[in-house]
Amino acid sequence: MPIKFPFSRRRSGPTDAWTKCPSCEQQVFNKQLERNLRVCPHCGHHFRMGIGERIELLLDDGSFAERDASLESGDPLGFADQKPYPDRIEAAKVKTGLREAAVWGTGAIDGQRVAIGLFDFRFMGGSMGSVVGEKIARCFEAALAERVPAIIVSASGGARMQEGTLSLLQLAKTTAPLARLDDAGVPFISILTDPTTGGVLASFASLGDAIIAEPRALIGFAGARVASGTVGEELPEGFQSAEFLLERGFVDMITPRAELRSTLSRLLRLLPVAPVEEIEREEGQHAWGPIGVLSGLAERVGGAVSETIGIRVEPDASGSGNGDRPARSPGAPEPATTEDER
Ligand SMILES: [Zn+2]
Repeated sequence: MPIKFPFSRRRSGPTDAWTKCPSCEQQVFNKQLERNLRVCPHCGHHFRMGIGERIELLLDDGSFAERDASLESGDPLGFADQKPYPDRIEAAKVKTGLREAAVWGTGAIDGQRVAIGLFDFRFMGGSMGSVVGEKIARCFEAALAERVPAIIVSASGGARMQEGTLSLLQLAKTTAPLARLDDAGVPFISILTDPTTGGVLASFASLGDAIIAEPRALIGFAGARVASGTVGEELPEGFQSAEFLLERGFVDMITPRAELRSTLSRLLRLLPVAPVEEIEREEGQHAWGPIGVLSGLAERVGGAVSETIGIRVEPDASGSGNGDRPARSPGAPEPATTEDER
């Protein structure tokens, strides 16, 4: 028997059937938007996408197998702002049908196996708490153990403030396995979608062997006003856009959504997982580690970053960007390899 609501529920009225494009302000028919991969047919604005749609877009049909689906956030700090944290999680679960802001698993792109993690911005702003960090770290660890490339599709406001310092720890937790992936010759492809900001950008998302952004995605650390206030100057228009960052080498390519899958497929062929013998031969040579990338970035933007985050950046005389083992002096012998990998 159908349930009768005491008030009218207009499920198919004009407000539900149409979406106003925030870029060109045209009304777009929702069905058309979905057919067009949630890209505005008038101006090419890329609307945000859910995890299910993203999996359908990128992976071979039926190839995705989710892992660690049952991981759920606790409330380690007993945190409450206007609402207790567990209530916020509950509301996000109801809204999205997800258990957390990220999902990871294995799948295939044109038959090439990958470990892939995806964010949903609708779940508490895609924020990274302990569970999201754990999922991303496990995705990288599985990529290492199974020797398949790792891909993360980010959409996040950054660290989850309801988990305080524990959220900040996720930056280290998600970044550390990347050094091991790098040593093992297993590629990581980072896909930045609108928006990728805060602690997610400041950790694994900016450390891809290839970094792909969607057109006009907002990519930045702090909000524009805060960033401007911190450095005490007007920052150029659109300085947190994918296009601005591409021009300055922070992003490797901007790929429209319709081409994302074919681009990934091509990249996976161009960046194969190194055979194990090759890695053994290269032992003792420095790989271009993630921390090398960070210090490289710090050099490029001058002293600002190092002063802000309190690290001393030394120009790398050899130019090899070998910041991955900073504690050893140049003359010291190589440590016994890969102990930490077992
Ligand atoms: Zn538009």
